[in-house]
Amino acid sequence: MVKPIRKYLIRGGTLVDSTGVRRADLLLEGGTIAASEAEIERSKGYFEIDAQGLIVSPGFVDLHTHLRQPGNEKAETILSGSQAGILGGYTALVAMPNTSPTIDSPEAVSYVQQLAEEAPLDVYFSGAITKGRLGESLTEMSKMADMGIRLFTDDGTGVQNGQLMRRALEYAKGIGVTLAQHCEDAMLANAGSINEGAVSAILGVKGIPNAAEDVMVARDIELVRLTGARLHFLHISTARSSAMVQMAKAEGLPITAEVTPHHLVLPDTKLMDFNTVFKVNPPLRSDLDRVGLWKAYFAGVFDAVATDHAPHQKEAKDTTLDAAAFGMIGLQGAFGAVLGELHRQLDLPQNGGRGRSDLSDEQLIHLISLFTWKPARIAQIDEVHGGPLLRAKPANITIFDPKLRWRLGDEDLVSRSRNSPYFDTDLVGKVIYTFVNGEMKLKEGELCL
Ligand SMILES: [Zn+2]
Repeated sequence: MVKPIRKYLIRGGTLVDSTGVRRADLLLEGGTIAASEAEIERSKGYFEIDAQGLIVSPGFVDLHTHLRQPGNEKAETILSGSQAGILGGYTALVAMPNTSPTIDSPEAVSYVQQLAEEAPLDVYFSGAITKGRLGESLTEMSKMADMGIRLFTDDGTGVQNGQLMRRALEYAKGIGVTLAQHCEDAMLANAGSINEGAVSAILGVKGIPNAAEDVMVARDIELVRLTGARLHFLHISTARSSAMVQMAKAEGLPITAEVTPHHLVLPDTKLMDFNTVFKVNPPLRSDLDRVGLWKAYFAGVFDAVATDHAPHQKEAKDTTLDAAAFGMIGLQGAFGAVLGELHRQLDLPQNGGRGRSDLSDEQLIHLISLFTWKPARIAQIDEVHGGPLLRAKPANITIFDPKLRWRLGDEDLVSRSRNSPYFDTDLVGKVIYTFVNGEMKLKEGELCL
């Protein structure tokens, strides 16, 4: 086995982290940032990276990844999903517990944590709030918390019983962990497949109304008020939900919220030709909601852009809209999809080319915060991930070209599944290097594991 070079000099890049934007070089050694200075002298023994025209950012952190292991290894494994993550610029993933079996016990946590030791990036896990995600009885959250679990969620479904959710919030508060809710009232969702609106009416497909999400967001805001516990809202997809989150945060309630790249980029009209790749839960919404999500984005309502990377085998998607599985993959292309759409939202030049980002420093910091230090804080992994890029900090770093325009092709995917919604989307900004704990895992856009 070739021993990896563990000393790197990153020269000429523009650093963006929670301290701001600055021109500086970085020296990486032994897994940490050994120096972060305006100019670092060249020296032998360091592998040098020319980062001129590139942005050097803390490594991306995804709060919402489905890795499908154990139980559906044909769709994804911890290893294949991690490799997709490296290509997308991620250095840490938080994997969802809706595997088979569910990650709902200390034994299950111990099993997946062992599997994740082999991963080329840092994989963290969230645990289930209720046993088997059945919404009936609470899991042993404190025992799982002792093993390092910091987020708990029944993602895939919301906790339907308000009283049980209240007890879960009280329990979580007592042990210092955060609950994350997939907001969907199952009765209102009524086994729908896509957004309820003009598109569902034209296609004759059963819809999921915005209200299915909005009523649970409203209920849970009141439960946070009642309990004082922290709550994270997963994949907010409607304008109303984002407005409610904005008001609740303005009141000082301990609430955070994420938005997905696909809800920011894709409207439900994508389903007009019955393409099941675009079937996802919560569903792609109308353009009115997409406008509302961007309004919320610019108002600083969101704390994270999270992929909801949801791999599915071909068989699960090669069927009717009603029968197809919910979900799309997102780790590869997530950042480029959001930055590309941000260019369109801000009416910025579409001509590409290498060089300085067209975004203002404030816009750049805001975007990167949603991919790095803010999600790292929510997952309570900010000692290791999310920067800042200062001396003695762990070297979890992503370097991207902020102007490169590109298209993602099927042949680029390293995921075991192919259900990416971005093949026809103009992406802006491509990840060129990813460093995980000081080791180069992506080199000039190619995996080096
Ligand atoms: Zn979900």
